[in-house]
Amino acid sequence: MIKFNQTIVTGNELVYINEVIQTGRISGDGVYTKKCHEFLQNRYFFNKCLFTTSCTDALEMASILIDIKPGDEVIMPSYTFVSTANAFVLRGAKINFIDSSNLHPGMNEELIEDLITENTKAIVVVHYAGVACNMAKIKSIANKYNLFVIEDAAQAIDSYYIDENNEYKALGGIGDLGTYSFHETKNITCGEGGMLIINNQKLSNRAEIIREKGTNRASFFRGEVDKYGWVDIGSSFLSSDILAAYLFAQLESIDLIQTRRKQIWNKYFSNLIELQNIGKLKLPFIPDYATNNGHMFYIVCKNLHERTELISFLQKNEINSVFHYLSLHKSQFYKSISNHLNLFNSDMYTDCLVRLPLYYDLKDNEIDYITNKIFEFYND
Ligand SMILES: *Cc1c(COP(=O)(O)O)cnc(C)c1O
Repeated sequence: MIKFNQTIVTGNELVYINEVIQTGRISGDGVYTKKCHEFLQNRYFFNKCLFTTSCTDALEMASILIDIKPGDEVIMPSYTFVSTANAFVLRGAKINFIDSSNLHPGMNEELIEDLITENTKAIVVVHYAGVACNMAKIKSIANKYNLFVIEDAAQAIDSYYIDENNEYKALGGIGDLGTYSFHETKNITCGEGGMLIINNQKLSNRAEIIREKGTNRASFFRGEVDKYGWVDIGSSFLSSDILAAYLFAQLESIDLIQTRRKQIWNKYFSNLIELQNIGKLKLPFIPDYATNNGHMFYIVCKNLHERTELISFLQKNEINSVFHYLSLHKSQFYKSISNHLNLFNSDMYTDCLVRLPLYYDLKDNEIDYITNKIFEFYND
């Protein structure tokens, strides 16, 4: 059976974990957490990063940081992971879901302005499959209405938005706040983990406080205050240095991992392009302003029936492929608290998108086998 996902171990994970254990300092914000922060800040020119227990928690921190209160409204795509919405719902926000583009599962930016009310506080963008949303457009709307922009960049490490001056801006580093996930299913992983990227400097100090249970412990350790105490709301959002050690080993191998993932993605694309040309299926679309980080290779079938047949055909041939999100506006939870929405493209991706195996150790002959089977499915 060709698995859908398999984590890569680069070799240094255990070496670094051992080192942390030897020093006896295994709680949060140790040597390896700092190394991870510095690595990402230097590589992507981020102002400040904070390692968290998950991307979900980084999103919850973002929601606290922009002071979401009951009655506030937040705009985000419906075709996303539940955590994107939950983080804001937990603090009382009403979510206004936006449809996907017909070209790709990311949000249709043209629809944002229609959803803005006097209660709107933020736009949360999701860079689906690591492919950038149109950030110039989103930032200009946010500036016009004085809204925060938060990037759920869970899938988007090492991917860029190319701005109007042809400058490459790392995803997660463009809005007021950005979030990464290091869950097992992501390009770079430590099992469970995340990162809050703080681009709006006004939010930096408070981000540290919220992450440290509402205390000013971080400035105490820098010698900025002579005792630390309870100064704000917060929770325990920082993760053990053992996980940071694992993560740092992965980050050190990021070029190796990314090169292979993009090779695999490109091979899928060139193997399958003919099926797109004859109108049998659709392949991922990468806009001119976006790069590809090889996070995901998906195809879009004609309808739900065809997709179900394709997944089961591949399964019979020992290939594990999977569908993805169920539109959040159609979820049991959302329907119980809000009006019925009609988001055509979001529903289309819910029904028609299928993800193919993509991981570092996937072999070229396995990719050929998978794409040959897809041809067989469409040619019979
Ligand atoms: C994976 C993912 C998350 C959640 O990440 P965790 O680290 O598991 O909390 C959130 N949003 C998107 C778009 C994701 O793909």
